[in-house]
Amino acid sequence: MVNVSIQAAITKARVRRVNGAYALITDCRIARDEVVFVLQGELTNRPSKYSIQIDEHKHLEPLHDPHDLKSLIHFFNHSCDPSTYINFEDFSVRALRNLEPGEEVTFNYNTTEYEMSNPFKCHCDSENCLIEIRGFKYLPLSERIKLAPQLAPHLRGGILTDEKHEQD
Ligand SMILES: [Zn+2]
Repeated sequence: MVNVSIQAAITKARVRRVNGAYALITDCRIARDEVVFVLQGELTNRPSKYSIQIDEHKHLEPLHDPHDLKSLIHFFNHSCDPSTYINFEDFSVRALRNLEPGEEVTFNYNTTEYEMSNPFKCHCDSENCLIEIRGFKYLPLSERIKLAPQLAPHLRGGILTDEKHEQD
């Protein structure tokens, strides 16, 4: 289902060590909506710290071989003000804005994960940082609506219908 045959070669980011941590960094200019890389990994029904949820019971788990493109998502970090989003029609990661070489490739984990298997405290320092990243299930309605254009299909239907959201 993850069709990578044509686009596997499109990878405009590399894993680099930044301030002691590994990150995905752009290695060229990338225009808004252009493909940065295509999600690859092993399908599993069990989420992990590094998996990306692509359907209600499907998660993409990275390999742990640094030379394999299926390992890239291991380094695909979260930001509350991310540089990319996932296009679920072709599982491509695309630029949210024009990107310069050397920028970190990040996405908002709340756009794919219903309930994070490893919730964490965010240090992205963006103006709208949510601090506690726990998954879509825990987002207030205002945040859900803000993320609507980038939401994974399995979360879109739950914006209003899921009773877990708090009033705000
Ligand atoms: Zn944040």
